[in-house]
Amino acid sequence: QRNRITHLDKNRMLAELSATVSHEIRNPLTSTRGFLQLLLRSDLSNTDRRRYVDYALTGVDQAISLLTDFLNFAKPSLNLQEQLDIKEELEHTIRFITPYAIDFKITIDISHDSEAPLYILGESQKLRQCLLNLVKNAIEAMPNGGRLSLRTCKHPSAVQISIEDTGVGMTDKQLSALGKPYYTTKEHGTGLGLVVVISLIKKMNGKISFSSSLNRGTQCSIVFQQY
Ligand code: ADP
Ligand code: MG
Repeated sequence: QRNRITHLDKNRMLAELSATVSHEIRNPLTSTRGFLQLLLRSDLSNTDRRRYVDYALTGVDQAISLLTDFLNFAKPSLNLQEQLDIKEELEHTIRFITPYAIDFKITIDISHDSEAPLYILGESQKLRQCLLNLVKNAIEAMPNGGRLSLRTCKHPSAVQISIEDTGVGMTDKQLSALGKPYYTTKEHGTGLGLVVVISLIKKMNGKISFSSSLNRGTQCSIVFQQY
């Protein structure tokens, strides 16, 4: 009986996730298309050309990793653990999200409190998927523009990533609904982004927490064991 319920849940989740994937794969593909179109211009400097190629490749990589994540959910793979530098993973996310943020009139602030790399044990693609989902939520919370602050900090035996926005914020009630499957306040939301984020962070032995204040903004913090 119990197995059957789990099975049904997974099927439902799969159906919802396929909807999300087909929806979310549009973003990187659209951005790649935009950069390829820019490359057609004849008056480009070499630097700009190089930059547009990088952006286009990043978009393709993102589309690939979305599909990979989806397939991993459908059929869990061996849990590959590698040494990751959270600073590098965060920088990757920023490069990817910058064109999107500019469209939304959002300024991005990034700061690292340590010069050294901050290593954890995890899976790069999964961490990137988490960061992207969290940053996307932050941007979507600022429809009239704002500031996205990203920080990494080093603690004695842990490392921390903070993602802060100056967006719509949440009431205590909304805050406590975070991570419930299908909870969304967006017209085209899926309410699955954070479900996936929370389960991935947990798999990497991390801890995620949120604080928020209505009409002021939201802070998200992720703490990992340092490796
Ligand atoms: P979706 O983005 O598809 O709605 P998520 O699971 O990513 O699904 O988020 C669920 C809900 O949590 C959002 O609809 C929104 O109401 C709330 N939320 C998440 N992040 C933020 C944020 N940074 N600021 C305000 N609300 C947020
Ligand atoms: Mg989301």
